[in-house]
Amino acid sequence: MQSSFTRAEMEAGSRLFAGEWRFAAAAPSMASLPPMRGIEVAFAGRSNVGKSSLINALTGRHALARISHTPGRTQELIFFSGASHLTMVDMPGYGYAAAAKAKVKAWTALIHAFLKGRANLARVYLLIDARHGLKATDEPVLQLLDQTGVNYQVVLTKGDEVKDPAPGFAATRAAIAQHAAAHPDLMLTSARTGAGVPELRAAIARLVKERDKLSLRSSSPAQAGDPVSPERKF
Ligand code: GDP
Repeated sequence: MQSSFTRAEMEAGSRLFAGEWRFAAAAPSMASLPPMRGIEVAFAGRSNVGKSSLINALTGRHALARISHTPGRTQELIFFSGASHLTMVDMPGYGYAAAAKAKVKAWTALIHAFLKGRANLARVYLLIDARHGLKATDEPVLQLLDQTGVNYQVVLTKGDEVKDPAPGFAATRAAIAQHAAAHPDLMLTSARTGAGVPELRAAIARLVKERDKLSLRSSSPAQAGDPVSPERKF
């Protein structure tokens, strides 16, 4: 079952993405990361999973994230900012069969360092092709996410290609249940038809709201006996 959202949350999602989104920075290494500001959500997935298309669909921009026709080419973290304090991070695609070992190593090191050190990273959306489900090449990334303890959620892409998404949905959900840091709910999207995109916007808006509350609480003087949320990162 997919999470459901109230009308207010759906509207908040649409507002969050309504303004203009633009390219903010590209970081091929940790040294070139932009300063941490506001709240970030990142998108990861195998090359060709539909990541650029989904980012474009979320922002309503046709060519914000370039739709790459040479999978495995981009080895940079790309930052997009909108009108709010939300930044989206497009993580380099992985799992490209022809990628050299050294390239894979460099990718893993960059992603590991980013996931570990980015305190304002609220969630990673791990994109999985709804037609194929989790593949062996997704495993190292799941492990990386588990190791770094980053909160992540699976988003199925290309839902329009699957007649009955229920069995694949259930199988991926069961596999994901083995991973402690994974959100138990999956989201089903299609950049082509736009299905699930307003819900993903609402989910991100909900996350931003939760993080805002946490940061407000952490910036007000602590009360004696105040519980400290283990999730609080800033
Ligand atoms: P990326 O490498 O993960 O950024 O993937 P792209 O966004 O470049 O998409 C890879 C291919 O999948 C392209 O040919 C897209 O047209 C196609 N694609 C992306 N999203 C969808 C979708 O929702 N439905 C269908 N049917 N194809 C899609």
